[in-house]
Amino acid sequence: MFIGHFGMALGGKRAAPAVSLGALFAASQLADLLWPTLVLLGYERVDVQPAATAFTPLNFVSYPYSHSLLALSVWGTLFGLGYVAIRRGRIAAGVTIALLVVSHWLLDYLTHRPATPLMGSGSTRVGLGLWNSVAGTLMVEAAVFAAGLALYLGATRARDRIGAIGLWALVGFLIVVYVASAFGPPPPTAAAVAWSAQAMWLLVLWAYWVDGHRRSTHG
Ligand SMILES: [Zn+2]
Repeated sequence: MFIGHFGMALGGKRAAPAVSLGALFAASQLADLLWPTLVLLGYERVDVQPAATAFTPLNFVSYPYSHSLLALSVWGTLFGLGYVAIRRGRIAAGVTIALLVVSHWLLDYLTHRPATPLMGSGSTRVGLGLWNSVAGTLMVEAAVFAAGLALYLGATRARDRIGAIGLWALVGFLIVVYVASAFGPPPPTAAAVAWSAQAMWLLVLWAYWVDGHRRSTHG
């Protein structure tokens, strides 16, 4: 799953208006932000395997530290508590962040093959395998993204042109990247996948920037 995770973050703004979209992106995508570094360091493994699923050629051999239910529950708790402590945020903000971190597991559980672990490596691996259907994947992800975007647009208003154009540029960019990855050629190597996945950090910065140019409509 790719664009659905951003949909969850956009929707999270409704629950926690004081939290920047950048922090919400970092929460819902924390798993995929940690993952490429863990792959490059050799702690987790992905293989490029054309036809691994109908939707993606990535075969997630092992990713317990970034993607298990246990790991994401721990990361989510730490991120939520850390946010409340450092930013003096409300409890609701911390809870929203923690739930967004764990939501990554739920959406990946829906899309990945039975590869997503509950706990450590060697633990039970689950997954409903929506990726076996291209149409099903596109429909579910598009629906989650559209719902999240609608919530975000209802919860915020542009202060200036950056807040308006920057947001739509970000939305357009996410859709283009998503469609390109869905229908483009498979990446050459696992390392190439991991290096390009590091670009996710730029999306977090982009979201911080845009969100700073929008204000909450709920006080
Ligand atoms: Zn993931």
